[in-house]
Amino acid sequence: MNRRRSPGDSTSWDGGTGKTKQWRARGRGWGSLTTIGGLRVNELELLERIREWLPAGGGARLIRGAGDDCAILRPAGAAEDWLATTDLFLEGVHFEADSCPAFDAGRRALCRGLSDIAAMGGRPRFCLISLSLGAGAGPGWVKRFYAGLLELARRTGTAVIGGDLAKGPETGCDVVVLGTVPKGGAMRRDRARPGQAIYVSGELGGSALGLQTRRGAAWKRHLRPEPRLELGRYLRRLGVKAAMDLSDGLSTDLHRLAKESGVAAVVDRPLPVFHGAGLEQALHGGEDYELLFTAPPRLKIPSRHRGVPLTRIGTIVRGEPGAVEFFGSPLEAGGWDHFAGERRRGSLRSRGG
Ligand SMILES: [Mg+2]
Repeated sequence: MNRRRSPGDSTSWDGGTGKTKQWRARGRGWGSLTTIGGLRVNELELLERIREWLPAGGGARLIRGAGDDCAILRPAGAAEDWLATTDLFLEGVHFEADSCPAFDAGRRALCRGLSDIAAMGGRPRFCLISLSLGAGAGPGWVKRFYAGLLELARRTGTAVIGGDLAKGPETGCDVVVLGTVPKGGAMRRDRARPGQAIYVSGELGGSALGLQTRRGAAWKRHLRPEPRLELGRYLRRLGVKAAMDLSDGLSTDLHRLAKESGVAAVVDRPLPVFHGAGLEQALHGGEDYELLFTAPPRLKIPSRHRGVPLTRIGTIVRGEPGAVEFFGSPLEAGGWDHFAGERRRGSLRSRGG
């Protein structure tokens, strides 16, 4: 079963002069519509509709609900805030059983939630795993899946405290991760302000390149992403207020960050591109699980943290909320859209969460 599209990358990047020829969507663009239950929406729009359906409030113990990497909860009497996130990990959408070993599938399934905790500067505490087993996933597959998941759980101090198991038409799981962060200290998507510098950690496009070539360091990067937990806590302690993880691609995730903050973003510096990856992969490829964050000019951001490069790529500006400019041209969100069934631009295949 393979519902992912084959890679094949066309680009409108001019190859290194620092200017784009144009960044208009081709084919099924970012505004592409799909009808679901009478609604004609793309994925981002459907998520926004769902947020509108949710009752307001949640009480004084809900600090932030849908719309960020994690919900932020403040239980009565708790010394810290709690973070909660949930992520689906489905065969044929997020991994292929024939190319992704069960060990790596388990590891990646947990990494998605841990990366959300990292984005808020938190520490993971607990996780719950609900697993649906398709015909190809026997007891041996489950054993290897859990071995991978538990290796990462142990290493990050995350206790597995339960879940569910069922036979299903296809293999997939949902992983809930709970974490903690000092009261009021969580980094959030809605805290970017005009004048702040935009940074990314690591190198971008490696996971998408790995998915395309299935070899070398890029394939390893795809199979075994590393949640940036220590970096997230470091940035929070440094005074960074706005961050998110790069799961769906920079173009999509920067749009989300800017929109949540009611600001626009200008990218006018070279991106840190993974060795061998193309600019399209760095801009639109998902599953890099690096951190995207903004910082006021007074904050001194080092060029590296524990070997992970931190690169300034642009500046937050006043403007249409969510608008992203890339070297003088509008950059449309081009990451994965489940309901368009493909990337919003081009045909690169990669999908985070
Ligand atoms: Mg996220």
